[in-house]
Amino acid sequence: MDDRQFRTAMGKFATGVTVIVTDVEGDVHGMTANAFMSVSLSPKLVVISIGENARILEKIKQSNTFSVNILAAHQQELSMIFAGQIKEPREVAFDRLDGKPVLAGAVAQIACEVSAEHVEGDHTLFIGKVTDIHLEDAEPLIFYSGRYRALAEETAVTI
Ligand code: FAD
Repeated sequence: MDDRQFRTAMGKFATGVTVIVTDVEGDVHGMTANAFMSVSLSPKLVVISIGENARILEKIKQSNTFSVNILAAHQQELSMIFAGQIKEPREVAFDRLDGKPVLAGAVAQIACEVSAEHVEGDHTLFIGKVTDIHLEDAEPLIFYSGRYRALAEETAVTI
């Protein structure tokens, strides 16, 4: 098994797309991430996974807070900005939720405080205790097999 085969296999798991945002004394930094999962309902916990070379890693350790912004279908450009896929710097405005910076128009804004961190291989898992949530009624952006996509029209499913 080589790295490419592993990446290809993981890419077969269709996900939404989030931008993780953190704020160190007014310096707001975002990063596109799809390694996001709900962990626990009581207490309300989520997990994100951040690569060891990502600049946001040290910033989350310093701030001890982050927000997860689940992008809407029309926000692919924001995903590309915060993944470094658009190289030239862009001005992005942030709203606030529970004091944490969040992206306007996201399907869900989830404000978190870091409750634990675990280094696993070349990534760090941050467990976030959810402190507030804001929802919008919009379709999500989808990532599958290395490409951005949108949900297809609903098809009837008989269970
Ligand atoms: P930088 O490279 O420093 O920043 C990323 C970009 O965001 C830069 O272009 C920067 O200019 C811009 N930016 C940051 N803050 C602001 C701001 N305030 N205003 C305007 N622009 C700003 N990596 C992971 O570790 N975990 C994942 O789960 C993950 N999932 C991904 C999913 C997808 C769909 C994609 C496309 C990439 C994913 N990545 C993931 C890779 C990750 O997004 C990139 O490697 C990213 O560039 C690394 O972020 P960084 O903190 O080093 O940020």
